[in-house]
Amino acid sequence: MPTPNIYLPFKTSIRDVKEVAKDVKLFSIVVPGDFTYQAGQFVMVSVLGAGEAPISITSTPGVSRDLELCVRTVGHVSSALNSLTTGDGIWVRGPYGRPFPVNGRQDTLFICGGIGIVPLRPLINQMMNTRAKTNKKATVTIMYGSRNPSEVLFLDEVAAWQDQGANVVLTVDTCQIESWKGCTGLVTEHFGKAKVNFKNSTAYICGPHVMIQAAMRDLSLMGMSDDHIITTLEAHMKCGVGKCGHCFCGGKLICEEGPVFSLEEIKKYNIKPGRDSLV
Ligand SMILES: Cc1cc2nc3c(=O)[nH]c(=O)nc-3n(C[C@H](O)[C@H](O)[C@H](O)COP(=O)(O)OP(=O)(O)OC[C@H]3O[C@@H](n4cnc5c(N)ncnc54)[C@H](O)[C@@H]3O)c2cc1C
Repeated sequence: MPTPNIYLPFKTSIRDVKEVAKDVKLFSIVVPGDFTYQAGQFVMVSVLGAGEAPISITSTPGVSRDLELCVRTVGHVSSALNSLTTGDGIWVRGPYGRPFPVNGRQDTLFICGGIGIVPLRPLINQMMNTRAKTNKKATVTIMYGSRNPSEVLFLDEVAAWQDQGANVVLTVDTCQIESWKGCTGLVTEHFGKAKVNFKNSTAYICGPHVMIQAAMRDLSLMGMSDDHIITTLEAHMKCGVGKCGHCFCGGKLICEEGPVFSLEEIKKYNIKPGRDSLV
């Protein structure tokens, strides 16, 4: 397969697809050996006859042979994507967007809500791998909230992160299952369980916009500096390369200058996390 030009879609195929929760599928997509990307970036994926959508890369750079994408059915394109099966062809362009900054602070806190774990997963895997290799004592706390136990994604991986020393706090909004061992309630209600020094930590947040806003506010109040509170934002995107202006907000093109922003930047440019406030 030739090296992709990031502005041109290249045709490829699905090597494997798994249903990981109701209406959520995890795809392994064949990509050329020199297709490189970083945690936090996304690709534009198209299904002929249906359209194109931005989807976060969830595979770990330099580890996975395939490009992994996890898609929740919400509308036309995502339904078409989630009806595809092994061997089917799709079109991909990218990778696009600014990746997550990694600043080497003492402690790291991941705050994931629902499918928001998808863009954070490669960064968590990278940090856990680095931690294992360097034998660093830096703490990693992963707080992950879902609506109910059946919607928790990558449960095996979450268990592996815990085995590798991460402090994992799993919570669900509601639960009628007696065997559920995690917490209940919103993820932000459990910040007391995060074993981190908030003043010397970096937080990476992704989830529904109300969760992002609440988490950013609380972390800031607990003394974390705004430039160390990092999130990734969704916006309606068409081109993905800073040309069409669909994702323009607060003077910033979310596709090109984001989707990763710090709280410092969000305040400075008055970017409003959340779909409703975006074009
Ligand atoms: C950078 C980025 C990364 C993303 N990563 C993922 C991912 O990893 N997995 C995943 O399942 N989804 C992801 N999304 C969201 C995904 O792109 C949209 O859900 C998808 O475009 C919906 O297309 P559709 O044709 O299925 O829905 P439509 O029929 O177009 O719309 C269905 C509903 O979703 C809303 N919607 C559609 N597109 C967007 C959008 N881009 N932002 C906000 N609301 C939207 C519409 O207003 C409508 O309410 C990401 C979005 C962005 C911007």
